[in-house]
Amino acid sequence: ETTDITELLLSRIRDVADYPEPGVMFKDITPLLADPEAFAVLTDALAEAARATGATKVVGLEARGFILGAPVALRAGLGFIPVRKAGKLPGATLSQAYDLEYGSAEIEVHAEDLTAGDRVLVVDDVLATGGTAEASLELIRRAGAEVAGLAVLMELGFLGGRARLEPALAGAPLKAL
Ligand code: AMP
Repeated sequence: ETTDITELLLSRIRDVADYPEPGVMFKDITPLLADPEAFAVLTDALAEAARATGATKVVGLEARGFILGAPVALRAGLGFIPVRKAGKLPGATLSQAYDLEYGSAEIEVHAEDLTAGDRVLVVDDVLATGGTAEASLELIRRAGAEVAGLAVLMELGFLGGRARLEPALAGAPLKAL
């Protein structure tokens, strides 16, 4: 069954070479989103990961983590919390800066959305270097909440994100479908 799901999902992901810059193989999930059967299979599998971790909230990482995380939260019966690029949330925020290959980026969450006692599952489409996920786990802890885990559609293993995230996950599971 696992193999069937993996094959279905893989068949709906389009590899785009040299996008958005030379040397990057972009994993385009829009064919998957356009296929209601594949989208439902993906949502169910990620919602199962949410249940398995005992999460009480789902955080989605802008932007494709919103598309995947919101239906996962609904399916699992949990609240959805957006982690956004800096400057997009109107309320009081916690922010976390992190390094990119060139320069840096910053993500934010509404401070009131995460509190002590929350167990948070982070959802995104692709785990690459792990920089974005690492910053989000940091934000969750700084908000006083607990990290339940990280669930992604796909992990680009050769970039070493899993190893990089080990300290930030601190034993919480990383599920890559
Ligand atoms: P990273 O912080 O390096 O793990 O990058 C993860 C973020 O960038 C995720 O939000 C992904 O959506 C996006 N991303 C990185 N590499 C790719 C790729 N090859 N294909 C699609 N999305 C990617």
